[in-house]
Formats: sequence, structure tokens, C-alpha cells
Amino acid sequence: MRISWPKTAVLCLLVIVLLSSCKSAPKEVQRTEFLMDTAITITAYGDKAEQAVESAFVEMKRVADLMNANDPNSEVALINKNAGIKPIKVSSDTFELLERCQWYSELSGGAFDVTVRPLVELWAIGKKDKYVPTDEEIQQVLKLVDYRKIELDPKEKTVFLPVPDMGIDLGGVAKGYGADRARNILKKQGVHSALIAAGGNIWTVGQRPDGKKWRIGIRHPRQETGDELLGVLSCQDLAVVTSGDYERYFVKDGVRYHHIFDPYTGFPAQSLVSVTIVSTDSAEADILSTAVFVLGVEKGLALTDQLDNVGTIVMTPELKVFTAGSYLSELELMHEKGENR
Ligand code: ADP
Ligand code: MG
Repeated sequence: MRISWPKTAVLCLLVIVLLSSCKSAPKEVQRTEFLMDTAITITAYGDKAEQAVESAFVEMKRVADLMNANDPNSEVALINKNAGIKPIKVSSDTFELLERCQWYSELSGGAFDVTVRPLVELWAIGKKDKYVPTDEEIQQVLKLVDYRKIELDPKEKTVFLPVPDMGIDLGGVAKGYGADRARNILKKQGVHSALIAAGGNIWTVGQRPDGKKWRIGIRHPRQETGDELLGVLSCQDLAVVTSGDYERYFVKDGVRYHHIFDPYTGFPAQSLVSVTIVSTDSAEADILSTAVFVLGVEKGLALTDQLDNVGTIVMTPELKVFTAGSYLSELELMHEKGENR
């Protein structure tokens, strides 16, 4: 029989998952929920799938409730509201994730910086219509962006932003973290074959139900229809995370303004149009996809070269593709490779 394409993997528009025919047909469970501003679909196979998918969504919702800065009841919103006022005690999830973020901020020289919240609010991509802030507005807000100012107290598990109007935004990592938690639950509950699609964050759990590798299509960033691919990666038990400038953006005077900000300039990063990171840890892949996007080809690939077991696929504005690192032996590229990085 032929298994149909999982619905949201197509709908998420970032990544398309290709399934082809398979012989036996274990029970398939597919469910979609809207969490963290994204449609999240889990497709799982086998007798334990129903209960496991239910538990995985409960966990993802818990993570979203802790970390969504747009939800006034989240821990992150509480930290932000108390900037310049007092430290806030948080869950170990939030605390430990912030510690990890600090580590990657150091590693990326500040290209990944969760204190971009004031920039996110100033630009309000997708909310304000074609609004480009003035240089003065950007310079004012940039004074508030600095991950080194976040005060983390490991004993008390508190987080303090010492300057009023500073803010944390975990939009560049929370989906990846939530997907890791969901994937662990599926595994623990006996699911050996599943796919989690949270926007551009994909987790391939085990193999496909027919025993073959999953085939993950990476969307070509300049195709409005979403059916032309940059490449297809065959893989199993890996997170494949893509950041692109084509999800949330507007164009003014020929410039595309999107939602990944360069913390040095305060403007949307312009050196790449798509970054895919492959890793066994989707929080890491999510962070790195954002960091490499900001750093561009040379510095971005130099960053991931330092890490073990990370695969990187980037596309430049000239539509040249560069790849580096692990897990890419079964990558079929549908686009021209660049020569020098
Ligand atoms: P998506 O949310 O489309 O999956 P990303 O994973 O690249 O894309 O994350 C983009 C989000 O991360 C933005 O919406 C914003 O909340 C946050 N962000 C933007 N720029 C940065 C940055 N330089 N460092 C950390 N987070 C960022
Ligand atoms: Mg990211």
C-alpha cells in the first residue's frame, strides 16, 4: 500500500517529508496541534503510538507554557516583566536551557543571543506592516541586547535581567527543545518509528515503518509553492532543523526583512537564505541554525566545524549551496554547490 505524505510536514512549508511505498502497514497515528506559534504534527507507528503521541503533546505543551514569551503567564514572560526589578525562580527546564543558550552564545561570539527580545518587539515582523525602524530606534534597543548580562543563579535556580526593558526570547530554541522532549517520550513509551514536524524542526525517530531511512526534503528557499527542493537527506534517529528567511518576512525597497536578527547590527541577518543543521539533539540544531544564519558561510561553517557530529547545509543569497560536517553522506543536492567558502 502507499502511505500518504504526513499532512503538516507539507503544510509547515519549510521541510517536506517524502514517503514512498512500503509493504506492511503498522498502525499509524497522526495528530497536529498548534503550539509555540507553529503547527506541530507527530506521526507515529505501532501499537503504542496512540498513548505515546498523547503524552508527547502534553510534554510539548508544558514546554510551550514555560517558554513562550508571548504568553503573559509563561516563566519567560515573568522574567521579562521583572527585568531591573528582581530575580525569578524558574523550572529546571528553563534554567538549564538558558545555561545551554549561554554556552552557545559564547561559542558563536554572540550571534545567537536570547536577549534579542527588544529587537523582536521593535521590528514586530509579521505584525507591523512593512515597518523598518529608524537607526536611532535600533541603537536604543541594541543597548539592551547582551546575553552576558543575564544573571543565572544555579543554587537558587533564579534568572535576573538587571536592566529594565531587557527581555529573553526563546523563539530560536524552544521548538527544538520541545521536540527533543517529545522524541524522548515517544522512545520511552516504546515507539520505534515516528516523525515529529515542528515547523522547520524535524525529528526522525527510528526508521520508517518499512525499515528504510526517512527522506527529509529541504525546501528551496526561493520557491513560493514549496515544491522545489534544495535537497533531500536520507537519515534516521536525527534531528534536521532548518531556519530560513522565507517564513516570516516582508520586502521593502527590494530588501527582505525577516525574523532572524543579527545582534551586532540590529537588522535581519542578510548573509544566508537557508541553514539546515543535522544533529542528535534538536535544541542544539535549532540554536545552531539561527547562529549560522547570522554568521554567514565562512564564520558559520567554521563554528560548526568545531563541534563533533553536526551536519550543516547552507544556501547563500546567490543560491549557492555549501555543506560541512557529519550525517550528510546520503544528501542528494538539487542545487549547485558553491566552490570557495
Ligand atoms: P523559526 O522560528 O522560523 O524556526 P529560528 O529557529 O531561526 O526560526 O528562530 C527565529 C526566532 O529566534 C525569532 O523569531 C526570534 O524569536 C529568535 N531570534 C531571532 N534572532 C535571534 C538571534 N540572533 N539569537 C537568538 N534568537 C534569535
Ligand atoms: Mg533556531
